[in-house]
Amino acid sequence: MTEAPLPSRLPLTGRFHIDDTCIDCQLCRDLAPDNFESDPDTETHYVHKQPEDADELDQVLDAYESCPSHSIRYLRISTEE
Ligand code: SF4
Repeated sequence: MTEAPLPSRLPLTGRFHIDDTCIDCQLCRDLAPDNFESDPDTETHYVHKQPEDADELDQVLDAYESCPSHSIRYLRISTEE
């Protein structure tokens, strides 16, 4: 997978994930509660579910832009062999 420009509309050609710089501030879950979850074992957050509609995508993009440690990443899924 490679870094990709942020999607402006569905369908998505990539996936969001949270890297290991997450400081567990919980803001992403507050902004997109259907898509982000906390992991109390690692004291970080993770992407529970990729956005499936425009409303969820807007919320995830709000979280992406608001994350204080820039830990939310968007990776394109290559369809080339
Ligand atoms: S907003 Fe960023 S730093 Fe805060 S919990 Fe989510 S991924 Fe971690």
